[in-house]
Amino acid sequence: SKPIVAIVGRPNVGKSTLFNALAGENISIVKDTPGVTRDRIYADVTWLNHSFTIIDTGGIEPESSDVILSQMREQALIAMDTADVIIFLTDVRQGLVDSDAKVADMLRRSSKPVVLAVNKVDHFERQMMDVYEFYNLGIGEPVPISAEGKQGLGDLLDQVAAHF
Ligand code: GDP
Ligand code: MG
Repeated sequence: SKPIVAIVGRPNVGKSTLFNALAGENISIVKDTPGVTRDRIYADVTWLNHSFTIIDTGGIEPESSDVILSQMREQALIAMDTADVIIFLTDVRQGLVDSDAKVADMLRRSSKPVVLAVNKVDHFERQMMDVYEFYNLGIGEPVPISAEGKQGLGDLLDQVAAHF
């Protein structure tokens, strides 16, 4: 069957925006209900000659910061369990934060390939140095994208499909 690609990352980094940009329809739920964890949301995507299923592991996400890390751990475990390739999404505007590093530690120990994407890079020339900071996660070369501006998505999917 089709490879499964899971998107993992902190609340608000743009997982649902990326999911919707790739799915081509607004399938994902972006609504906030504090403290609620819900089922993952799936869509079938075709990219060039590749077909795969993409999962937004976020669903409805917690707002309180003390549950964010536990939810990220849970997401990472789901992704490590079910996905063939994991997209670890970060946010260039927030920069590299502690919970990113903690999840990167988990992902690094899994056998699944991880593609590190840095979102909200709306102006690459200005944000290039901020993107390079994410090399410090130790999970490879950061791929700059703008999910909202639909920039860099081809490069991201090339990196993802290289692992199929
Ligand atoms: P999620 O919680 O990880 O699913 O994040 P969302 O997809 O709900 O996005 C969180 C916020 O980031 C929303 O206000 C989006 O409009 C915004 N956002 C998503 N992608 C981009 C982007 O490429 N650039 C900018 N500037 N904002 C973005
Ligand atoms: Mg979301």
